[in-house]
Amino acid sequence: MNSLKVVILYDADINHEILLVARTTIQEAFNAEVIEIRKVEIPDTFYNPYRDQYLADLVVEHISYFRPEESYAILLSSRDAYVPGLNFVFGLAMPLLQSAAVFLPRLMLGNSTTTIFSRVEKEVLHEFGHLLGLEHCRTPGCVMNFSNSVRDVDRKTNKFCKRCASKLHEKGIIISEKYVLDK
Ligand SMILES: [Zn+2]
Ligand SMILES: [Zn+2]
Repeated sequence: MNSLKVVILYDADINHEILLVARTTIQEAFNAEVIEIRKVEIPDTFYNPYRDQYLADLVVEHISYFRPEESYAILLSSRDAYVPGLNFVFGLAMPLLQSAAVFLPRLMLGNSTTTIFSRVEKEVLHEFGHLLGLEHCRTPGCVMNFSNSVRDVDRKTNKFCKRCASKLHEKGIIISEKYVLDK
């Protein structure tokens, strides 16, 4: 399989280092090629004023139009977002559209930049895992653990468990050793 091609999108003037974290993570973990990093507009019609949040699935569908054929798109969003039935989401992946978003505001609450960068790294890996066909995983520490709070995000590692890594391997995607748990 050829290396994965990825477009990184952002929707506001976010910290340059956060973009760098996302880029490095995607390149190193999946040996992917980041072909473009660009800013996009998110339509106001995706905003729900009653919740002061954006509808995550509309956002992800929207950004999929910025994705060249055969490539994957991931948005780093300065918006807070939800899907019906959940109070909020840290991220959302739509595998059929090869597109995902990570919603930053709740990941940036409190704490040091080191912690924030680490959360962004984990959520980028997590959403990418979904894009590549992984479901949530219960193996302690696996980056595919479902996270309900930043505490959950902080508790998991930035690595795929052996089982998740081998599922990806079956699809021809090799995860760098650095991003695989030894269990
Ligand atoms: Zn998930
Ligand atoms: Zn796993």
